Amino acid sequence: MAKNFLNELLREYNQELNHSGVSGERLASRLYELSKIGSTSEGGVTRPGYSEGEKQAKELVKTWMREAGLKVWEDGAGNVFGRLSSKDDSLPAIASGSHVDSVPNGGNFDGPLGVLAALEVVESWRETGFQPTRPYEVVIFSDEEGARFNGGFTGSMSLMGTLDIEKQLELVDYNGVPFQTVLETYGTNLDNLKKSSTHKNEIGFFIEVHIEQGKRLEKAGLPVGIVSGIAGPCWLEIAYSGKAGHAGNTPMNDRKDALAAASELILAVETFPKQVSDTSVATVGKLHVHPNGVNVIPGDVNFFIDIRDIHENTRDQLVTLIIEKAKSIAKNRDIEIVITEKTNVRPVPIQKEIQKLLEEAVISQQIEPMFLPSGAGHDSMIVGEEIPVGMLFVRSKDGISHNPKEWSSLNDCIVSVHVLKNVVESLTEKEII
Ligand SMILES: [Zn+2]
Repeated sequence: MAKNFLNELLREYNQELNHSGVSGERLASRLYELSKIGSTSEGGVTRPGYSEGEKQAKELVKTWMREAGLKVWEDGAGNVFGRLSSKDDSLPAIASGSHVDSVPNGGNFDGPLGVLAALEVVESWRETGFQPTRPYEVVIFSDEEGARFNGGFTGSMSLMGTLDIEKQLELVDYNGVPFQTVLETYGTNLDNLKKSSTHKNEIGFFIEVHIEQGKRLEKAGLPVGIVSGIAGPCWLEIAYSGKAGHAGNTPMNDRKDALAAASELILAVETFPKQVSDTSVATVGKLHVHPNGVNVIPGDVNFFIDIRDIHENTRDQLVTLIIEKAKSIAKNRDIEIVITEKTNVRPVPIQKEIQKLLEEAVISQQIEPMFLPSGAGHDSMIVGEEIPVGMLFVRSKDGISHNPKEWSSLNDCIVSVHVLKNVVESLTEKEII
């Protein structure tokens, strides 16, 4: 099964894309080598953050980084850096990369593509002899997916110094092992993790290549797309408390049905996003009904609303609309309501100049530029809170991800390398950072 992955990648590869030092065969063989680490019977991978699998994947990439002439090190959070010297090493570096951890039985592109695309840029320069005017770094962030601790972005948050250490120490993994123990088993510790933020000052710009995990590029018939902003999620937990009662003996005009209230709000939530912007979304995906009996009027309902947009003002406008509606429903139905904000990550806008730079790079590959928001969080979202970021999406077949069926053609992957290379090369010459 695994060998098929390599054959499948190479099957329809267009050799004409092998130019300017970029090699589709090299990228394919590396994606294939990584796919063997933590591989599952369905052709996917299971590589949780700080697991043996994630570590092995990092070690393999480190070998390639060294062979490519990079100076390689790992920080206290397990983030891997491969740095290429430049004409002026005192300048802030351009960094590019992603992650190599995965969700359980995840795909072979989510993460690895971004890391290997960043490395392929260095490989191409070895052949063309290009030397950047500022340092370039290939980065692997630890534990991005968060499947192990129900969190995520541990590596990028450590780099940026935004990891909530107290909260992190309370986390236990799926086997009940505390975060600190997991970190020590991996080969580092909390003190070293805290020191990892010192390197952020040496980075001036970060760019991530990532699969789209949606169908917009596929629908548009385009291999790559320019991310216009990264949506920050706000999670609201709503608890409606009415009154449980017998479904047969309680007349309709004497009820305090918490589920009917929740339903009213859920339907409203579906209609609100289009009132505020084209890019906002809101979802109710988790709901608990108490006592959850066939013949009992629901007394308590707890549910979560995931609200996102790439612009903070419209995202917050949507949050306000939803809260007001939630309260008015409670008032009209005379039931109790408690609203708790569980998560609030600021959306990361992508600077117009950077989008323009990516647009030029896409056009240079004779591809029509398309701009699209990123609904999901990525390491770029964390890094982008302080450092300018760019992001490039690669077409995903059927929009499938976090699944062994995840697929991006080698042609599309290589186009993304050419675009990334073009962006990095022009950035090294510009004063944008
Ligand atoms: Zn990812």
